[in-house]
Amino acid sequence: MNKLTTYTIKEIHKAYRDKLLTPTSFVDLCLQNAKQNRDLNAFVTLTEDVAENHGIESEKRFYIDKETKPLDGITVGMKDNFCTKNIRTTCASNMLLNFVPTYDATVYSRLRDAGACLIGKCNLDEFAMGAGTVDSIFGPTRNPWGYKACWRIAGGSSGGSAVAVSSGACVAAIGSDTGGSTRNPAALCGIVGLKPTYGLVSRYGLIPLVNSMDVPGIMTRKVDDAVNILNCVAGPDELDSTTIKKEFSPINLDNNFDMSKIKIGIPKEYHYPGMSEDIVDTWRLVTNLLENEQATVQTVSMPNTSVSIAVYSILNQCEVASNMARYDGIEYGLRTKEDYSTEELYASSRSEGFNQVVRSRIFAGNYFLLTRNYEKYFIKALKLRRMITDDFKKVFKEVDLLVTPTTLSDAPLLDEFVSKHNRDQCAFQDYCTQPANMAGIPAVSIPIRLSKNRMPLSIQLMGPNLSEELLLNVAKRLETLVDFPSLEVV
Ligand code: GLN
Repeated sequence: MNKLTTYTIKEIHKAYRDKLLTPTSFVDLCLQNAKQNRDLNAFVTLTEDVAENHGIESEKRFYIDKETKPLDGITVGMKDNFCTKNIRTTCASNMLLNFVPTYDATVYSRLRDAGACLIGKCNLDEFAMGAGTVDSIFGPTRNPWGYKACWRIAGGSSGGSAVAVSSGACVAAIGSDTGGSTRNPAALCGIVGLKPTYGLVSRYGLIPLVNSMDVPGIMTRKVDDAVNILNCVAGPDELDSTTIKKEFSPINLDNNFDMSKIKIGIPKEYHYPGMSEDIVDTWRLVTNLLENEQATVQTVSMPNTSVSIAVYSILNQCEVASNMARYDGIEYGLRTKEDYSTEELYASSRSEGFNQVVRSRIFAGNYFLLTRNYEKYFIKALKLRRMITDDFKKVFKEVDLLVTPTTLSDAPLLDEFVSKHNRDQCAFQDYCTQPANMAGIPAVSIPIRLSKNRMPLSIQLMGPNLSEELLLNVAKRLETLVDFPSLEVV
C-alpha cells in the first residue's frame, strides 16, 4: 500500500497545494490499491471511469478555477445499499442484481457536492442483514489484517466499506448502521466508525432495513477525517422527513481538549459472558488512560441491557417483513420465469431473489405481526425499547459519555464464522452496539491496539443525542494517546 494512501484529508489537501500529488494521480493510486487487493473482495463495483472523471473535475477546481471544495480529490466508497444514479446498486442480493437507480442518495449527492471522488460500491451482507459480510451473493469480504492462509472476517454488514478504507482504496467510506453495521466492521478492521444520532444524516436513497433505526455511518482512518465527512453530509433534508429539522453547525475539534471535566460511565451490564480476555483488557486499558487524563470514571448500571438483543431481533424482523414486501417481482428487481399465476410469480421471485437470512427474517416478522401475536411480541418489544432508551436517558444525567467494547472479540476466522452461521452470530456480535440504535444516540468505535492474533481491538464511546462534538473530541484524544498502527497490505 502506497504511504500516500494513508494520509488524512488535511494532509492530502496540503500535498495537492504543494503539488506533491494531484487529485488525478491520487485517484489512480487508490484504484491501484483496490485492484491489487481484489482478493479482499471489498467492492461489488469498482467505478473506475467515474472516479477518474471526478478526479479531473477536482483537479480543475484545484489548479485552474482555484475554487476548492472541502472534499475535492478525496476518494470515497459507498456501501452498495445507497442509491447512485446510473450506477448499479445491488444490496448484494440476487433481487437487485440489475437494479440501476435513477437518483442519488442524499449522502452521496452531498459528498459529490463537496467534491468527493467515487471509487466504487462496497460489498455487504445481503440487504445489510449480518455481522460478517459473509452473506453476499458476491462472496465474502476478507479482513486485510488477516493472512491468506487463514482469512478472518471483515465484520459486517458494512465490511466492504471498512476494508476499502483500511486497505487504502479510499480515504472514507459510507456504511449503514442499524444494529452496529458501521461500528462492528470498523472495529474489526482497525478504523474509525461513526454512527451519528438518528436523523442527523439523511436516509433518503438508503435502501431501508429498519427505518426506525437505520442511519448512514462514516468510516475513516482517523477521527479528524470522520469529522470532515460528517460536516459535509449532516443536516436537514426535505427528502427525508425523519431528519432533525435544526440546522447542523459544523464540528470543530479542539486539539487541547480538556478531559478533566468529563465524566465517563462504564455500564456493568456490558460485561457479556462470552467476551474475550483481549477485549476486556482493552476496555480496562482505556479506562486507565481516561483516568490518567483526569477524567472521572465510574461504574453505572443499565438494567434493561440484557433484553436488548431479543427486543432488537423482534423489531428488526417486523420492520424487515414490512420493508421487503415491496419486492414482489413486478415493480422492483428480479422477476422469475415461473409466472403461470400471480401467486407463483410473487413466491418464486421472492424465493429466488432473497437468501435464507432475509427469508427467515420475513417469516419471523410476519409471525410477530399476526393479529394474535401483535400485542405479545411487537407491542411488548416497543415498550421494552422505550425502557432501554430510558436507561440511557437516566445514565446521561450522571455521566457525559459511556465507554464499552465495540465487539466481543477480535475478528473471527472466516471459515469458523461461516460454519457457525452468520444468522446465529449476528445477534451476539451486536451485543454492545445495537442498544445505541434502539435509543437513536450517537456512538463511535475507535481502534486501540492489536490482539494476540495481531488483529485490531476497538472501543466504543456512546453519548446523548447530538453529542457528536464531545464524543469525537474524546475519541480524538484517545486516538492520540494510543497511536494505533497503520496497516501495510502489500
Ligand atoms: N447484525 C445486525 C443485523 O443483522 C446489524 C445490521 C446492520 O446494522 N445493518 O441486523
